[in-house]
Amino acid sequence: MSQRAPETGIKVIIVGAGFAGLTAAIECHLKGHSVLVLEKFPELKPLGDVISFGPNAGRIMARWANGAVYDKLYPLLHRNKELNFYMWNGEFIVSQPVYPLNREAPSVNGHRGEIHEIIFNYAKELGIEIRLGYRVLEYLEDKERAGVQVNGETIWADVVVGSDGVRSKARELVLGYVDKPKSSGYAIYRAWLDSTPLLHDPLTKHLVESGDTHTGWLGPDVHFLAASVKDGKSFSWVCTHRDEGDIDESWSFPGKIEDALKVIDGWDPIARRIVELTPECVDWKLVYRDPLPTWISKEARTCLVGDAAHPFLPTSIQGASQAMEDGVVLAVCLQLAGKQDVPLAVRAYEKIRYGRVRKAQLLGEETRDMWHKADWNEVKKNPDIIKLKRDDWLFLFDCEKNTYEVWHETVKELNTAGGVENPAQSSAQPPLVNVH
Ligand SMILES: Cc1cc2nc3c(=O)[nH]c(=O)nc-3n(C[C@H](O)[C@H](O)[C@H](O)COP(=O)(O)OP(=O)(O)OC[C@H]3O[C@@H](n4cnc5c(N)ncnc54)[C@H](O)[C@@H]3O)c2cc1C
Repeated sequence: MSQRAPETGIKVIIVGAGFAGLTAAIECHLKGHSVLVLEKFPELKPLGDVISFGPNAGRIMARWANGAVYDKLYPLLHRNKELNFYMWNGEFIVSQPVYPLNREAPSVNGHRGEIHEIIFNYAKELGIEIRLGYRVLEYLEDKERAGVQVNGETIWADVVVGSDGVRSKARELVLGYVDKPKSSGYAIYRAWLDSTPLLHDPLTKHLVESGDTHTGWLGPDVHFLAASVKDGKSFSWVCTHRDEGDIDESWSFPGKIEDALKVIDGWDPIARRIVELTPECVDWKLVYRDPLPTWISKEARTCLVGDAAHPFLPTSIQGASQAMEDGVVLAVCLQLAGKQDVPLAVRAYEKIRYGRVRKAQLLGEETRDMWHKADWNEVKKNPDIIKLKRDDWLFLFDCEKNTYEVWHETVKELNTAGGVENPAQSSAQPPLVNVH
C-alpha cells in the first residue's frame, strides 16, 4: 500500500474482473485513482487451464507489493529450461531455450484460475471495491462523465473501462454497432490434469518425473503443445486443428477425447498417450474478429482494454500480457492528464497502445502459419525457423516506463491531429484480421 501515488480524484468504473480488469484496477488504484470493479460472475472460481504471460507482463506482477505477489505465484508456475520441438511422427527437430525466470521480469505460465485468484486477492488486499454478481447491461456517457446501468441502478464515474472480454458489451457503445465473430476454420482441444497417470506410464514418464518440461509436435495444419507444471505435478496440453464448426466463443464447451485422438491419428505415440491418459478436455472454437477501428468512445470517456479491444490468436502467446499492459498504460495516462482532462488520457492510452498491440497480434498469425504450413525439407536444413519468436521489442518492454517517456510527444501529436485521429489509419502496421 505504500506504493500508492497521491490521490487524483479520478473515479474509474471497471467492468469485468479478468486479467485486463484486475490489472487496470490495481494500477489505477496505485496511481491514486478511485476504483470500482463490477463483475458478472457471482463468485470467484478457478476457471480455465494453462495461460501464459511473457516477461513484459511478468514485470508488472513482479512489482506488486514489492515482489510479494510474485512470491505467491512462483510455486504454481511452469519452470522449464527449453521447449523441445518434434515433427508429428516423433522425429526431433530443435530445442529452444526459454528466457530464464528472473525476479524483475519473469515469464508467468500456469493455471489461469490459480494465477487469477492470487491477483484477485491482491486487489482485495489493496482495498479495491469489487462487486461480484454485477452484470452491466448498458453503457452511458456525456461530455462530463461515463456510467453504467447494473442491477437496477445507474453508476457514474469520470471514465468507464470495458474489460468485459471477447463478447464485450462495452464494444457496442465504442463502435456504435454489434460486431459479429466469424468462424476461423480452427479449434483447440485443451486439457489440464494431474500428472500421476503420466508418471506411471513408460511412454510419458520422462515428461513429468524430474521437473517441468515443454514439448511441441508440429504437423500439417495441426500443432500439439504439452507442458508439465509445478515441478511436474500438473500437466496441460493444447491441440490446435482445422475445424469448420461455428459455435459461439466460450471456454467451457466439453470436448471428446476420442475426437482429439482422431486429429492426431498416426502421430508420435507419446503425444497420443498423453491424450489417452487425459480424463476430459475442452473444445474451444476459434473465431475471427475484424480488428476494431478504435477502442474508445466518441466522448473518450469509455475505453476498451484486453480481449474486448483486441482478442489474440493463442500462438501469439501475448493475449493476457497485452491485456495487462493496457491497464498499466491507461492508469499512467489518467495520472498524467489529471481529473480535468480525462478524455485526453483516454485518447493517449489508445494512441500509445494501438500499434504495439497490432504488431504483437501479427506474430501470432505468423507463428501459426509457420507451424501449420511448414516445408519440412526447409525445416530440416534450418530448424531454427520453427522456433517461437521471442523478440526483445516485445518481451523486454517496460510499458509503465515507456508511457512516462512518450507522454508529452503523444499529447503533442494528439493536439496537432485535433484529438480525433483514427489509430487504425495512423498505425505503422497494415490492418489485419485478428483471431480469438
Ligand atoms: C472463464 C474464463 C476462462 C479462461 N481460460 C483461459 C485459459 O485457460 N487459457 C487462456 O489462455 N485464456 C483463458 N481465458 C481468456 C484469457 O483470460 C483472456 O484471453 C486474457 O486474459 C485477457 O483477459 P480479459 O480480462 O480481457 O478477458 P476475460 O478473461 O475474458 O475477462 C472478462 C471478464 O469480464 C466479465 N464480464 C463480461 N461481461 C460482463 C458484463 N456485462 N458485466 C460484468 N462483467 C462482465 C467476465 O465474466 C470476465 O470475468 C479465459 C477467460 C475466461 C473468462
